Amino acid sequence: MPVSSAKTAIRGCYITFKDNPFMVAPEESLSIEEDGLIIMEAGRITDCGPYAALASKLDKAVLVMHYPDSIISAGFIDTHVHYPQMPAIASWGQQLLPWLEQYIFPTEANFDNSAYAEAVASAFLDELLRNGTTTAAVYCTVHAQSVDAFFRQSEKRGTRMIAGKVLMDRNAPDNLRDTAKSGYDDLTALIQRWHNKGRQLYAVTPRFAITSTPEQLEMAGDLLTRHPDVFMQTHLAENMDEMKAVSSLFPDSASYLDVYAQAGLVGARSIFGHGIYLQETDFQHCHHAGCTLAHCPTSNLFLGSGLFKLFDAIRSDRPVHVGLGTDVGAGTTLSMLGTMGEAYKVSLMAGAERLQAIQAFWLATAGAAEALKLDTKIGRIAPGMEADLCILDPAATPVLAQRTAHCQTAQDMLFPLMILGDDRSVKATLVNGQAVYERP
Ligand SMILES: [Zn+2]
Repeated sequence: MPVSSAKTAIRGCYITFKDNPFMVAPEESLSIEEDGLIIMEAGRITDCGPYAALASKLDKAVLVMHYPDSIISAGFIDTHVHYPQMPAIASWGQQLLPWLEQYIFPTEANFDNSAYAEAVASAFLDELLRNGTTTAAVYCTVHAQSVDAFFRQSEKRGTRMIAGKVLMDRNAPDNLRDTAKSGYDDLTALIQRWHNKGRQLYAVTPRFAITSTPEQLEMAGDLLTRHPDVFMQTHLAENMDEMKAVSSLFPDSASYLDVYAQAGLVGARSIFGHGIYLQETDFQHCHHAGCTLAHCPTSNLFLGSGLFKLFDAIRSDRPVHVGLGTDVGAGTTLSMLGTMGEAYKVSLMAGAERLQAIQAFWLATAGAAEALKLDTKIGRIAPGMEADLCILDPAATPVLAQRTAHCQTAQDMLFPLMILGDDRSVKATLVNGQAVYERP
């Protein structure tokens, strides 16, 4: 979708962040404009603030979309998800490694077909937008055409997406394996074709240490050296059987994270899915490297993987960047609201501290943007930011409506929204200042 140059505006209650709610008192980090106006032009926010102060500046000809009784937020950011796994969501009865073999590899094998890949990518992106998610870090399959299909569909919608071809040269079926050399050649061409093309961003994507030879991991590290602004995403310390397999495949590594570090894959633009079974030395390593852990609570519960220690990861003396991920097909929803709700429950199971609603919204917006080094572009509502927004309905269902009816402020509504909310709570989603989804 071409970015419209027309000036538009949106009126309603909006929330955004001025600080990190894990570092300061959460209520001091959040900024709420009860009757706000956000003015947008050429895909960006040009001005925002109280309606009463800004309305007079606005030319009468400018279209103002009015959303009373709603909460407007920056679009959600999903830091870990697999678009080709959407057809295999909700597959019964296995933990990670047999689940991959029984359900995921056969599903991903279909993506050698470009037309099929394009159809799934299109449906997946529409689902993200229906859930208010405007940016995601996405795994494609081992097939280069699955990446082309995804970026083509993202470009069509104008969305800012991070994605990459899965690298997998061992411990996978023949039809899903590349080689260190073919992977290198494919990635060189894909980075050239897609990285920084409009809003598209490339991520070097080895699936995980089990399915890549040391040669392939080194090749991935070499590509990152050649293209330092490209992202890297992979899985880390998700499941106990996976941990055992990695330590037997890489007996000389000090830890699972160290396998990636030795190949040059641990940097500021690295996103590690899960990180459930990390030691203190790993957290320190992550902190110094500036990398991100993608916490995927619905997936960790669905596959019985374990409980992520969020407050351990984010500890204020050596904070590690954390984002939230839906991790579909192991995850059970593309809704970031639902994912925040499950993150709250996991925080209760995993330790003494409880995730607060403001902290959860930060993880899904400004915190994720900061983790991904995209905080000058997305994640907040402020002049100069890209105009990706979602409009939330705190009365979307009868239960939500009766629960939020007693709330005094928008801030009070955030917790019920993340516990009871889902795709039905998203009234509209804007990308580049234009509505790309409106609830019927
Ligand atoms: Zn995953």
